[in-house]
Amino acid sequence: MTEKALVLFSGGQDSATCLAWALDRFDHVETLGFDYGQRHVVELDVRGAVRDAMAGHAGWAARLGPDHLLDLRALGAISETSLTRDVAIEMETGGLPNTFVPGRNLIFLTFAAALAFRRGIRHIVTGVCETDYSGYPDCRDDTIKALQVAINLGMERRFVLHTPLMWRDKAATWALAETLGGATLVEQIRALTLSCYLGDRTPQDWGAGCGTCPACELRAQGWRRYRAA
Ligand code: ZN
Repeated sequence: MTEKALVLFSGGQDSATCLAWALDRFDHVETLGFDYGQRHVVELDVRGAVRDAMAGHAGWAARLGPDHLLDLRALGAISETSLTRDVAIEMETGGLPNTFVPGRNLIFLTFAAALAFRRGIRHIVTGVCETDYSGYPDCRDDTIKALQVAINLGMERRFVLHTPLMWRDKAATWALAETLGGATLVEQIRALTLSCYLGDRTPQDWGAGCGTCPACELRAQGWRRYRAA
């Protein structure tokens, strides 16, 4: 039986590693990106280059299926966050950073399931992570497990929501890329992916970004720990 997967693919380090993870184990892999009016929409521009790089790995080109891009700008329109508005990134009184877009992953995964339903795909892969995340409640393992139950009940399917990075920190995510595609894949992800919240493309030793936003700090720290290991 052909096992098909749909990877939520933004063009950042985490989702690129998830794409490699899926290409390593499923027969057919499609990708899905969302335009939700994010300030770092530039990350969507790198998706094609990352997909092309992945296709260069032995056996992966035959597995890589079509890319989908969904317009979810209604989400950005109703969210007052620093990811969708031109305001500074900071912590809010409730302990959550204002980069939190309420409901984002719930909405992404529900749309992904609706697309997977139509495409006859059973496996849905997302790079959410509870290990060194920013406290986003929709990245929690329990949230994803509960959502899997809700989606399967609501769509009368047996989707499996995969979260290969859930218990990996950023250093371990680089190590996973090395296991999947060697130094070549690590370099491709380093050079091609964008994780910066501001969509800045200033070259850094760990990739490209502003170097000071929370996403850049996390990526830089993870890269240093991975290189030191
Ligand atoms: Zn940044």
